Formats: sequence, structure tokens, C-alpha cells
Amino acid sequence: MTSSTTTSITITSCAKTFADGTRALEPLDLSIQAGETLVLLGPSGCGKTTLLRIIAGLEAPDRGGRVLFGEEDVTHLPIERRNVGMVFQSYALFPNMTVWDNVAYGLKVRRMDKAAMKQRVEEMLAMMHIDALADRRIDQLSGGQRQRVALARAIAARPRVLLLDEPLTALDAGLRDRLRGEIDALLRSLGITAVYVTHDQAEAMVLGDRIVVMSAGRIAQIGTPRDIYHAPANAFVADFIGTTNRLRHKDATLVFRPEDADLVPPGEGMAQGIIQVVHFLGDRQRVHLHTDDGEAVIVEIGSRRRVAPGQRSGIAVRPEGMVHLSGNAEESAA
Ligand code: ADP
Ligand code: MG
Repeated sequence: MTSSTTTSITITSCAKTFADGTRALEPLDLSIQAGETLVLLGPSGCGKTTLLRIIAGLEAPDRGGRVLFGEEDVTHLPIERRNVGMVFQSYALFPNMTVWDNVAYGLKVRRMDKAAMKQRVEEMLAMMHIDALADRRIDQLSGGQRQRVALARAIAARPRVLLLDEPLTALDAGLRDRLRGEIDALLRSLGITAVYVTHDQAEAMVLGDRIVVMSAGRIAQIGTPRDIYHAPANAFVADFIGTTNRLRHKDATLVFRPEDADLVPPGEGMAQGIIQVVHFLGDRQRVHLHTDDGEAVIVEIGSRRRVAPGQRSGIAVRPEGMVHLSGNAEESAA
């Protein structure tokens, strides 16, 4: 069996035009470091899955596009020769086989000897906390259990790269949070190069060493979660990640997050408004205001303060809380 050396990935000029003429990706360059977890984040239809499938070898880029694993050009290698592990939103497991046989599948294909295979499968089942389910059939498992099996199967053969396409999207919220934490710990302990596709920004922030924000087949920004959130490159990124307020103030447009603003007594702050709605969230409150200039602003405040719709309030913004678009400003402002 091939050893488990993880690899960097270099993508150059990868575009994708489907047979029906759909342009899913514009020519795109991307470098992924060995051992890094890179998240592809963006709205539905922006090309995340297409890019992941090109990395996997399930889809060929348009002519001229290249994919390298380390120094090796894998552009023309089919998936079974790239040594990648994949996990999909829909589990893609063999439903009438047992958990054990699903996890062992890739090892059997590689003709691993029986003793080593047994040891490896048991190791994987233990790692994903599904040892008790070894003899169950897939169709007797819950969604979360199936995704654990899919993860165990994907990493059993020690792939060079792990590719995950919205693996948690089909699960309910509580389970999603728990598995998200486990996947985070798993990726860190394996030290494997991973590309993780999601449209969920919380997932992207927790899991990504870096996040690639995609829009309409292009890269809108690449950066750490902190960069993306506090220094979005353009209006698309600012609006896609978190909540963004815009206020006209002395001929400038101020851009800021709700948690960087505060409600102050009427007459104070940089704008005045009337409270429209207060959402009590337990750990904080989200207050929606209409300013006297007709702008909608959302401010987050502590959950012990008493505010009510109809009240007048000033709106203050912490100076360090201003968002400065790091790229060429308001391309696609709403
Ligand atoms: P995402 O994963 O970000 O939701 P996809 O990569 O699945 O986006 O799709 C990007 C675009 O390519 C979409 O417009 C989608 O409809 C289109 N597309 C995806 N697969 C095919 C295909 N096999 N044939 C034609 N168009 C496709
Ligand atoms: Mg997709």
C-alpha cells in the first residue's frame, strides 16, 4: 500500500465549461499547502463542487488547466490513481453491506493483507467511535453514524488528500455541531491536506486554516477566517460573511458589524434611529433600527439590557470596528 505522505496541491488556469455550455469555473489559480485545511465557501452554484471534483479527478478541467499534487502533474490521472479520500453530502456508502465491509472496501481493492486490514479497519472504527456498529448494515444507521462510516472509509487507505463536499449539510443542527468539532480534531490529528466544501460560514470559520470565498466561478478572496471576516476584499465577501451594516456619515460610507456597534442615549453616537425589532437570543440581543436617514442598521447588545421597539436611540460604532474593504471597494454592493 502507498504510504500516507500528505501533499501540497497546485491548481493553475483551471476553468470548467460543461458540455451544455455552462461555464462553472473561470480560469482559476490556487495553491494549497501540505497539511492545510482549505475551505471552499460560497453560495449554491458558485462552482465549489466542480472545483473539488477537478481536484479529485472526477472532472477534467478545460484545456490548459493543470492540477499538481506536490511536483506530480495529476491532471490526466483518474481518481483511482490519485490516492484521494472523498466524503460527500449523500453518503455514497454501500447500503446493504456492513459498516466493517464499507470501511474495508478500499483496502480490499488495494489487496492489503488480511491481518493488516483487520487492524486498520478496527483502528478507523475506534477513531470514529463506531466500533460497536461494525456488523450493522448501512441502511440500519442514522445520518450521523453514516457520515462517521464515510469518514472512516475515506481515510482508511491513508490518502494523500481528503476531499469533503458538504458532509454535514444533511444532518440536524446539534449533530452538525458535534461532528464539526470531531472533524476538526480529526483533520488536525491526521495532519492531512484537506479541501472542505461548504456554504455554511460557521463551518468554514471553525475548520478552515484558510477560506476561499467563491462567487460565480471565481475566487472572491482567499484568507484566514480572521482576514475574511475583518478585512473582506470586496462588498460580496463583506455581505456573504456575517452581517454588514452600511451608514452614510459625513460623505463617507461606514461599514461595520453589529457586534462592533452599540446603542447610546439619543443625540449621541454617529447616527440616530428608532428601534424596530428586538430579537432576544439568550447570549445577546439583535436590535434592528431605522435611522433618521432611512437606513436599516442591526446592532448587537448584551442580553440584560432593556430595549423595546419604538424607542429612539443613538448608534455608536467602535472606531476599531470599522470594516475596511481590503480590495477595490464596492464592486458588487447591494
Ligand atoms: P456548488 O457546488 O457551488 O453549488 P457546482 O460546482 O455544483 O456549484 O455548480 C456550478 C455550476 O455548474 C452551476 O451553475 C451548476 O448548475 C453547473 N453544473 C454543475 N454540474 C454540471 C453538469 N454536469 N452539467 C452542466 N452544468 C453543471
Ligand atoms: Mg456543491
